[in-house]
Amino acid sequence: MRAALFLALSGLAFASHISAQEATQLQIGGGQIEVAFSSSPSAMQRKLVLDWVSLAAHAVTVYYERFPADHVLIRVRFFDGRGVRAGQTFGWNGGLIKIAVGPSNTAADFARDWMMTHEMVHLAFPSVAEHHHWIEEGLSTYVESVARARAGDLTPEKAWGDLVDGLPQGLPKNADRGLDFTPTWGRTYWGGAVFCLLADVEIRKRTGNRHGLEHALRAILKAGGTIQSDWELTRALEIGDRAVGVPVLSDLYKKMKSAPAPVDLDALWKELGVKRQDGKTEFDDTAPLASIRKAITQTN
Ligand SMILES: [Zn+2]
Repeated sequence: MRAALFLALSGLAFASHISAQEATQLQIGGGQIEVAFSSSPSAMQRKLVLDWVSLAAHAVTVYYERFPADHVLIRVRFFDGRGVRAGQTFGWNGGLIKIAVGPSNTAADFARDWMMTHEMVHLAFPSVAEHHHWIEEGLSTYVESVARARAGDLTPEKAWGDLVDGLPQGLPKNADRGLDFTPTWGRTYWGGAVFCLLADVEIRKRTGNRHGLEHALRAILKAGGTIQSDWELTRALEIGDRAVGVPVLSDLYKKMKSAPAPVDLDALWKELGVKRQDGKTEFDDTAPLASIRKAITQTN
């Protein structure tokens, strides 16, 4: 998730208490990534966490063609248990990510995690007004799996299978008033992701698959649209549209911002050639949009 500025002040207080010897600097994709632990990790824990951070940073760098912040502080604390939880990203001093990990996590536990990549994607889009929160969470939800597939960390089957399973939670329900006016969990995270997938497919359809959502997002980042900047959403969408030469983002926003705009996902999966049955994903390369599906998750 992305958190508001007042919460960032607690991060500021914390930062002053980090002992220098606990912080490790990583240089990835032109970004300086500082990893700090709230309590001393074992050598093995430190290595696993640093490998995990590096992998996520690499995936995001593959997608954006650079790490989306010049400097980010990642503050890692341990919780009693296993897995990864409580990821939060703030636009403080270049970027601050707070996240908690289980002390007994294995390399496999970290390899399964999506949250670190999700949080890093938040660095790559400007802060917009609260009622547009769906674009921030939707981008992180969608780009996370696409970026990890492109980096070779997820198979295309896993990435598409997760989208098939997750996206229905983002469809409009009764009394929906559009993405800007329906701030439920489903519409914010997965409804935003539906917007992103539709935009990605439509940009590719209208540019002969030469451009995709990533080209729009890279242009927004290049124009200074990072988490540290407060922008009007329409400004970001217009910059993205100009970069790909077709006004897909602005048009889709007009359509989805204040109306339910239902989407037939089953028809879309058929067009893209994604078949999901009994927890297994198969691809149909004879489907009309198979080349678009392949381009979205091709490894770089
Ligand atoms: Zn998020």
